[in-house]
Amino acid sequence: MSEPRATAGPEAPPRDRTPTPEPAVSAGRWRIEVNRNACAGTGICLGTAARHMRLDNGRARPVEEVVDPDLSVTDAADTCPMEAITVRDAATGEILAPKL
Ligand code: SF4
Repeated sequence: MSEPRATAGPEAPPRDRTPTPEPAVSAGRWRIEVNRNACAGTGICLGTAARHMRLDNGRARPVEEVVDPDLSVTDAADTCPMEAITVRDAATGEILAPKL
């Protein structure tokens, strides 16, 4: 005697195949720019992107201007209260952060 076969239930709803939008990040290297005239020296970016930002005479500077992609850098640009940090795709110049 064979096992009873499972009957097919109601068809599963079709899967949503809409592509997930890519975050505004680039796989290439990124350039960090700091407008030192706008920087208020809060140090918030040092807490957010400690490996990439430092204070110099009370204003932020990138440790290195061109870096491998690291979301802490775009987070720093997004959370800077003075909007003093801009992160660009180093190859194209496209602004990756802050988000407009
Ligand atoms: S968070 Fe913005 S204002 Fe504060 S130190 Fe960094 S760049 Fe300057």
